[in-house]
Amino acid sequence: MAAESGASPQTLLRPEVLALAAYHVPDASGLVKLDAMENPWALPPELAADLGRQLAGVAINRYPTADAPVLKAAIRKALGVPEGCSILLGNGSDEIIQLLALAVARPGAVLASVEPTFVMFRMIATFAGLRYASCDLQPDFSIDVDAVLTLLERERPAILFLATPNNPTGNAHPREAIERIAAAAPGLVVVDEAYYAFGDGSYLDLAARYPNVLVMRTFSKLGMAGLRLGFLVGARAWLDELEKLRLPYNINALTQAAATRLLADYAVLADQARRIREARAPLATAIAALPGTEVFGSEANFILFRVPDAQRTFDGLLERGVLVKNVSRAHALLAGCLRVTVGTPGENDRFLDALARTLAAVQGPGLPG
Ligand code: PMP
Repeated sequence: MAAESGASPQTLLRPEVLALAAYHVPDASGLVKLDAMENPWALPPELAADLGRQLAGVAINRYPTADAPVLKAAIRKALGVPEGCSILLGNGSDEIIQLLALAVARPGAVLASVEPTFVMFRMIATFAGLRYASCDLQPDFSIDVDAVLTLLERERPAILFLATPNNPTGNAHPREAIERIAAAAPGLVVVDEAYYAFGDGSYLDLAARYPNVLVMRTFSKLGMAGLRLGFLVGARAWLDELEKLRLPYNINALTQAAATRLLADYAVLADQARRIREARAPLATAIAALPGTEVFGSEANFILFRVPDAQRTFDGLLERGVLVKNVSRAHALLAGCLRVTVGTPGENDRFLDALARTLAAVQGPGLPG
């Protein structure tokens, strides 16, 4: 019998790790999956077939190319990365957030953001040993620049993350707000453009214009969530240092080959994004037309809306086969809120039908308001 070592998670692991709640990914089998901002559209069959042929030729017995020059060139070409800026690749942008957090984690260092926002900023700060500091958005989720400037002054964060368009609120922060914050920040400002494809314009140019701004993007919302690929754009002086923390083979060979092939047909992905964008306003209008709802403006591929009882509405949607995200307990400003990803027209109709029935059932007949 093995000797008793006395080691247990409770005695050995860092208390902040024990205190974390794991990022919960629900089982969506058999459901209309509108919880995770995925692109609902399949690839055109000819493109899928060609992708299959390309992948069949990948030497998976070999390690992947460590610095992925072909993929980086494809990204540069498809997305107009500013001349003079470097690219760092991550296994999803989640990995880039982690890498940045590890890089700045000196004793006492602070990672900051505005709330509510993407939960991984706070989670990664915690497990990278950073203190997390934030200030709130306004009740309509617009950014309070003065509050951010006060936060910068008080906390002197090594790094500030600003997601724009923001998750889970859907709104984009105005350019002049980001520029004022970038000019005042004592540390790095990471502009997280995960949802850029669904908004108006981009802040990629800020990575070239401000020495402390890095811009992060992901291909997850653009039809490649399963590949896990994100990237960071910024001045070489920063990215050369950050490269030292990147595990050499973080982007596997199949992802490199698949993303390179798909970026050669970027117009197909951009067209799918356009269809999602076009479906967004009618979906928002239809949700707003239901009794008791409040809908927030979105420049992303999802819509945040408030209902009288978020948990019962979430449960009612689930009973009717539709999975959305209940964000109502994530932050006080999100009380009563659910987030739905824009799907195909058929999925959106199923969601709207389920929502109408659920709200009618939850609110009951003849109740006031
Ligand atoms: N940033 C934001 C704002 C997000 O909403 C997400 C995904 N939900 C990510 C980053 C991470 O995306 P991924 O790791 O899939 O690239």
